[in-house]
Amino acid sequence: MSISPGSALSLVLDFVYPRSCVVCHRAVVERGRHLCWECWCDVSLIGFPFCSWCGDPAAGQIDSHYVCSWCHRLPPQYDRARSAARYEGPLQHCVKAFKYGKSTHLAHELGVLLEACVDVHYGGEIIDAVTYVPLHSRRRRDRTFNQSRLLATHVARARKLELSDAGLYRTRPTPSQALLNAPARRKNVEDAFAVKPTGWVNGRSLLLIDDIMTTGATVDAVARALKEAGAHRVWVATVGRGV
Ligand SMILES: [Zn+2]
Ligand SMILES: [Zn+2]
Repeated sequence: MSISPGSALSLVLDFVYPRSCVVCHRAVVERGRHLCWECWCDVSLIGFPFCSWCGDPAAGQIDSHYVCSWCHRLPPQYDRARSAARYEGPLQHCVKAFKYGKSTHLAHELGVLLEACVDVHYGGEIIDAVTYVPLHSRRRRDRTFNQSRLLATHVARARKLELSDAGLYRTRPTPSQALLNAPARRKNVEDAFAVKPTGWVNGRSLLLIDDIMTTGATVDAVARALKEAGAHRVWVATVGRGV
């Protein structure tokens, strides 16, 4: 068996500097992994039942056409939204390290989780391009990267799809959604997104990627901009689903 110089170097580095789990700091034996097996087992994957529109997990006995009261009251602009796992426990720790701790090496691991979600929920759909929630240029400069772009890049590569880069932008900086209630979140991102008039969305079915979805106000505002610019379908996929 031959081994490439890059793999050999990575083996040596793993030996000299053993990787530890980003959550519990135990040693990680699987190559290329940054979360140990025990922490992966504590990630709460989202399975049925959930709202067929926004993908929000639901309790009890419901059928696959169930639409939650939020979607009835304020029908989303996107066609469907799905998330890989609940934003809690090890996943929350991992996403925070990725997003705020600049641990961009976690993009691969989170991207694998997101890609599995895309495969399960959108595997039968014809997706023309992958796009992502943009950051305002000021925040992009401060953070130095856009976490959603890194995730979208992973999904686009894995599925051999076009990544529609820089076709979407924020028209103004918006305060973080984290501390706002649902109506304030909607107001905060209202008309905050625009699409460059290059015809890249016209009649196309797009997969919109974000890291976390809570009330869905942000992805909904982006979907509105995409639909107004002529998108045929907007399907949303996020790594985490907050409450
Ligand atoms: Zn761990
Ligand atoms: Zn819903």
